[in-house]
Amino acid sequence: MDPILERYQALEDKVKGYNPTLDVRRLFDAFSFADSAHSGQLRKSGEPYIIHPLAVAEIVAELELDTDSIIAALLHDVIEDTGATHEEISKRFGEPVALLVEGVTKLTKMQYTSKEEEQMENLRKMFMAMAKDIRVILIKICDRLHNMRTMEYQSAKKQREKALETMEIYAPIAHRLGMQRIKWELEDTSLKYLDPVGYREIADELSARSSAHEEFLATIQKRIQGRMNEENIRCHVYGRVKHTYSIYRKMYTQNKTLDEIFDLYAFRVIVTDVPTCYYVLGCIHDMFNPVLGRFKDYISTPKPNGYQSLHTTVIGREGIPFEVQIRTQEMHNTAEYGIAAHWKYKQGMANQSLGTEEAFEWVRKLLESQQDADPDEFVSTLKVDMFADEVFVFTPQGDVKSLPAGATPIDFAYSIHSAVGNRMTGAKVNGRIVPFEAELKSGDIVEVITSKTAHGPSRDWLKLCKSNEARNKIRQWFKKERREENIATGRASFEAELKHQGLTLAQITDENVLPGLLKKSRFGTLDELYNAIGYGGVSAVKTVARFRDELIRLDKAAADRLSAEKLATTADELIMPASAANTVSAQKPHAPRRSQSGIVVEGLDNCLVKFAKCCTPVPGDPVVGFITRGFGVSVHRSDCPNALVENRKPEEAGRWIKVDWVDGDLPGYSTALELSAKDRDGLTLDVAMALSTVKVKVNSLSARAMPDGYAIISVVVEVRDRDELLGVVNKLSQIQSVYQVKRSVG
Ligand code: MN
Repeated sequence: MDPILERYQALEDKVKGYNPTLDVRRLFDAFSFADSAHSGQLRKSGEPYIIHPLAVAEIVAELELDTDSIIAALLHDVIEDTGATHEEISKRFGEPVALLVEGVTKLTKMQYTSKEEEQMENLRKMFMAMAKDIRVILIKICDRLHNMRTMEYQSAKKQREKALETMEIYAPIAHRLGMQRIKWELEDTSLKYLDPVGYREIADELSARSSAHEEFLATIQKRIQGRMNEENIRCHVYGRVKHTYSIYRKMYTQNKTLDEIFDLYAFRVIVTDVPTCYYVLGCIHDMFNPVLGRFKDYISTPKPNGYQSLHTTVIGREGIPFEVQIRTQEMHNTAEYGIAAHWKYKQGMANQSLGTEEAFEWVRKLLESQQDADPDEFVSTLKVDMFADEVFVFTPQGDVKSLPAGATPIDFAYSIHSAVGNRMTGAKVNGRIVPFEAELKSGDIVEVITSKTAHGPSRDWLKLCKSNEARNKIRQWFKKERREENIATGRASFEAELKHQGLTLAQITDENVLPGLLKKSRFGTLDELYNAIGYGGVSAVKTVARFRDELIRLDKAAADRLSAEKLATTADELIMPASAANTVSAQKPHAPRRSQSGIVVEGLDNCLVKFAKCCTPVPGDPVVGFITRGFGVSVHRSDCPNALVENRKPEEAGRWIKVDWVDGDLPGYSTALELSAKDRDGLTLDVAMALSTVKVKVNSLSARAMPDGYAIISVVVEVRDRDELLGVVNKLSQIQSVYQVKRSVG
């Protein structure tokens, strides 16, 4: 038999293998049409041209796609390379086939360019083609795969060009679509032309040691299979050396030799159901030593491209690490064929039902999903991913607007003009009124309803929009139009945040610190700051955090200064032993004497001093004293609610007196801290550990669970001074799940 006819027959058999109801006459007709259209044309290899469409159809058949796809693969070059027309194909094979062929032709005509902009434009076109009918891109990828397989006959220039385009565009798309096997082959064949030396190096080294590799693979495979048999688990176990390009990437990005590549080998255990996956994982970890931090559960959290599997890396007796992937047969099909697995011909399913809304939805979700979290799978060219983060929508006039994924009608309105956004009162998508928060999908036709009397954007819009453009324009509006309101709302959220971060307004507005803080935040007045927070220009959370850090810094600087002065006064004492060692009241006529408590009280000698239980001050805290009835002077922190001027009872005003710290002789000051944390096992233990590492004396430690899974932990520690206390607070703040550490008051 004629070798070409033989090859056609093999294709037909392959398709019949998975699609017994195949219309054989229609397939043969497509083959004859292509054969006569390409007759007389030769490939660079000298073979008749028809070999190429046949080979592409074979690859498409390996993906087990429907008959229209196979036929379109056979015809994919007839419009481009012969005189055949869309109408002719449509009449003979139906409009769906004609559309597929035309789609592939358009992609073929696309000129590869190294210019970033044009590349993006090409990717956009591909995306639009994909959104219309994903089979177009599947066929195109198969076409490219066969061209790469036969690239040796092309000129060096063409080889490089095609290889680059494949590496930058087609392999990432194959990855995006989850077609692992094809992606690997595209990458490996491209590498061969992009870095022939590097490619050969790896290929040679791998083949030189191939018998050692084979032996290792066989040993481990046998061991795993043996254990599975013992456990009565039905499964398939495969082992392989990872593909060349993934090794290449690791060698070059991590600057390693082949010997240093961590996991050269990958094993796969394919089982029947999900619970068995986890059971097998247990067996594998029982048989080999798992490598810490290498276990990944993509079953409960699939990758954006739909990939599901358990991954673990283990080390066997040989000391060689290898990866084991455990998944069900269904997950395996998705992993190998990706999106194509969903397009597989299914018996009893009419071909027309392919390409229904549901399938589009799947594509959309896939393309809209964001970052691929696994750095191992990181594709160096993320162009496709960038572009998966976009949606393409239309104005009623048919203009295309590209918006970030998740964009709403608000983004759309502002992408037209800020006046359109500011006057928007509603929106229609595909003719139907939708809420402002409606997520736009590619292909949607969006119409903005505006009114001259509209009140302008609402503050909530800032949360509903996805594009920076819309956000900036909305902020602009608030900045200009709503100053009064901005100041009020900004002030409210600023004060709420202060409270949240354990600060008081008084601490900020202190005339000694406020000018510095404002200067740091580049605002002239507090109102300007409030205004900016109000229109969303700056975040209240960040501003308060910055202020808090600055306050801590100032406190520390003041404390340092104080201790430096103390050193100085100690020296003074040598000369004037009678003078008081108090820095604040040293000049005062009535010098108070040193007290055992480390506190000097203005105007009172040798009085009894105790520390208030509500706020437990430590040296370095700003403090104030209260003359109690019969128990001497009680010392509060100045910011203690009980000591705040506005909370003092008028009749007791005369009892509040100035006090200050001097060197005391007490070994430590007891003070209370309160930790807020998300409750978890071992939390209290971690707190105790942290306290012991900072070597602070703990007087009490108690935890209580709060509703909603939170916990409050109270500790009383003894510290020398505020600096030591800040160190403790700092250490405690670093404990996992602790979100706030504050000093207890009240
Ligand atoms: Mn072709």
